[in-house]
Amino acid sequence: MNSKIWLSSPHMGGHEQAFVQQAFDENWVAPLGPNVNGFEEDLKSYLGNEKQVSALSSGTAAIHLALIMLGVKNGDFVICQSMTFSASANPILYQGANPVFVDSETKTWNICPTDLIKAIEGTIKKHGVKPKAIVAVHLYGMPYLAEEINAISEKYDIPVVEDSAEALGSSYKGQKCGTLSKHGILSFNGNKIITTSGGGALISNTEEEKKKSVFFATQSKDPATHYQHSEIGYNYRMSNISAGIGRGQMMILDKHINLRRANFGFYKENLGHLRGFEFVDEPEGIYSNRWLSTVLIHAKEAGFSREDLRLALEEENIETRPLWKPMHMQPIFENCDYYGTNVAEDLFEIGLCLPSSSNLSDDDRERILKAILKIVENH
Ligand SMILES: *Cc1c(COP(=O)(O)O)cnc(C)c1O
Repeated sequence: MNSKIWLSSPHMGGHEQAFVQQAFDENWVAPLGPNVNGFEEDLKSYLGNEKQVSALSSGTAAIHLALIMLGVKNGDFVICQSMTFSASANPILYQGANPVFVDSETKTWNICPTDLIKAIEGTIKKHGVKPKAIVAVHLYGMPYLAEEINAISEKYDIPVVEDSAEALGSSYKGQKCGTLSKHGILSFNGNKIITTSGGGALISNTEEEKKKSVFFATQSKDPATHYQHSEIGYNYRMSNISAGIGRGQMMILDKHINLRRANFGFYKENLGHLRGFEFVDEPEGIYSNRWLSTVLIHAKEAGFSREDLRLALEEENIETRPLWKPMHMQPIFENCDYYGTNVAEDLFEIGLCLPSSSNLSDDDRERILKAILKIVENH
């Protein structure tokens, strides 16, 4: 059997262990320590220095804290892109609030401006309240239409939580993803473009907001020598060991983005001309880190379906995955409001995520290509 080719695997750069070793040498093995501050500074300068960064235990924790910082409470309504991973939406439930899901547009597959307006107006009409926040996502690293979304956010005075978990290094009109709204979030989970073996970050505008998020993330301890609490606390801070891995990963981030983009280029160049294969280009002004390379399979033209292709690759020990199943189709969210048509549903039906790791070898890529061409030739 050929060795397994993964969808998206961790890729160490070689400098990570030195930062971790230093933490051991200096006994900063407790959560706090210099790597946490160092990693936050690295991220800050990478993102352009205008923002504040809090390193946290996960991207999900970062979304949860963003909603808490925005005052989302029991019974509130929060709009969320439907075409996403469940971690974008679950924190809305943690707060006892109601998700309102919105369909995608076809250019970036992210939250559709027209349906967003319908969702805001619809929620006001149906429930008599304005939604508290909008969770928008840069899916697979492709930035959403930020100008349109931000204009709507300003018009209705509803802040955007920018789920940039998959989009570190992507940019919109020259501005880095994660910095396009009031609060951005990043993820350093094992499958993301860089990893801390699990972690995340909250991006905010002011020093005060950063302090508040760290306060919440470290059990909301009031200033006192004894433990004193007047607000709900969370154990959401990143550890100094994880942050050490993150500092090493920051040294190779841009290199790994180029490798991921080269994967997409390889797929498009070798498969883009085939009947029934569709690859989505970056709209003007949009730069994607191409965290995952994705393809749409139009079964009528191709002669086989997305699922036929997925199963054929699985036979060859090559991992792929259907595009994320929209949240409004998920059992856990079945009673939530939804605004849109069938754009996200159709993408889910025909879309496939291809192996996209930055450490794919030339041989891996050739093996994937051969396996795909085999099924093409058989139809
Ligand atoms: C990975 C991911 C998250 C959650 O990040 P974790 O660090 O795994 O908690 C949130 N949103 C999206 C879109 C993701 O892909």
